Amino acid sequence: MESILVLTHTDDSGPALTKPSLEAVTAGYDLAAQLGATLSIGIVAVDAASAVTSLASTGARLLAVTGEPFAQPRYATDAAACEALCRAANATIVLAPGTSRFTRVAAGVAHRLGGFIDTHITAIAQQMLGASGPSPLGTGECRLEATRWFYRQRIEAVLTRDVRPWFLLLDAGTNAPFAAQPAPIQVEQIQVQLPALRTTVTGLRAPTQTAQTIRPEAKLLLVAGAGWTKKQLDGQTHPTQAGDLILNFLRLTNASLGSSKSLVDQGSDNQPVLPFLTHLNQIGQTGATPRHLKGLSTCCHGEEPHVVGWRFIAERRAISLDPNCGWTRGKADVVYIADAFQVIAKLNALLEATEN
Ligand SMILES: Cc1cc2nc3c(=O)[nH]c(=O)nc-3n(C[C@H](O)[C@H](O)[C@H](O)COP(=O)(O)OP(=O)(O)OC[C@H]3O[C@@H](n4cnc5c(N)ncnc54)[C@H](O)[C@@H]3O)c2cc1C
Repeated sequence: MESILVLTHTDDSGPALTKPSLEAVTAGYDLAAQLGATLSIGIVAVDAASAVTSLASTGARLLAVTGEPFAQPRYATDAAACEALCRAANATIVLAPGTSRFTRVAAGVAHRLGGFIDTHITAIAQQMLGASGPSPLGTGECRLEATRWFYRQRIEAVLTRDVRPWFLLLDAGTNAPFAAQPAPIQVEQIQVQLPALRTTVTGLRAPTQTAQTIRPEAKLLLVAGAGWTKKQLDGQTHPTQAGDLILNFLRLTNASLGSSKSLVDQGSDNQPVLPFLTHLNQIGQTGATPRHLKGLSTCCHGEEPHVVGWRFIAERRAISLDPNCGWTRGKADVVYIADAFQVIAKLNALLEATEN
């Protein structure tokens, strides 16, 4: 029988488990029920006391590695903590959120345990094999299958492995965060033999909230295309006005900002640029594939290498001057054939009015 371990962590934003950790708990809980497998949840935190109360209803065995060395991400301490948790749980399947903290250590931990790792997993399921099934396992056997996307979300692959422990790093946003009423529960403390620590974490440096335009947690993604800096009907470019409109929209909606490749490339082509955009904002084949509930594309043509990055955006709308753009060819749910300068200015005015 499989023994499932879900690795979770808190972060410096507070004592609770991170959202991707709670999503991994949901995946582990569902999988354990499906397989009839044992479920353990391992927690890496400075103090796990309040983190575990939200996990009482999972019925899982709760294991924690706690203490000051685990307050912040660091390879040596996190790898030692995860290794100790895997050994204590005797895990054959290890699910972990694909956060930067665990992505950094998971492959190393899998190697220490003689296991195998797959990343960017979007779904896990048990597959029943019939007499005509594709495997030599034969009638009535089951196997575990994990799904991920390759080639920028164009090819969906279903993976199965015999090697154990099998580590699966889950993409954020693919499961609902586990939610339950807090209740008191026992947690087992796991002792960790730490190696000599060469790295001292002195703190975090992050852009201020207003400078930070990439917000994975936002419900809405606003995408800016190259049209914002192109000549408009008056024969002039208006990059300053474009920048103001976009930043005001972000301020009023708290949306995340994406961009087409053409727009972020313009800085190197000596064309007008929007100074708050970097290649990190780029959506598409050679950019990011975010998972917001809604997306609004503006001044963008909707070409395939860009739109492929919209695969997981649930509701898509676009504002383009071109009635023959890619969005109108089945790539968006709603397309407004309109001037985005005018539409966003009007939208901002309406949002300002509701704010006051
Ligand atoms: C190998 C490869 C990989 C690529 N990877 C990516 C990628 O990851 N991401 C990506 O984005 N692209 C990628 N591209 C480029 C992609 O094919 C397009 O060239 C790019 O997405 C075009 O950007 P755009 O639509 O913003 O610009 P444009 O094609 O210049 O379109 C601008 C649009 O703005 C409209 N417009 C202008 N003014 C207004 C206005 N006032 N109101 C409304 N609409 C207006 C115009 O009608 C036009 O449709 C890749 C290309 C290749 C070959």
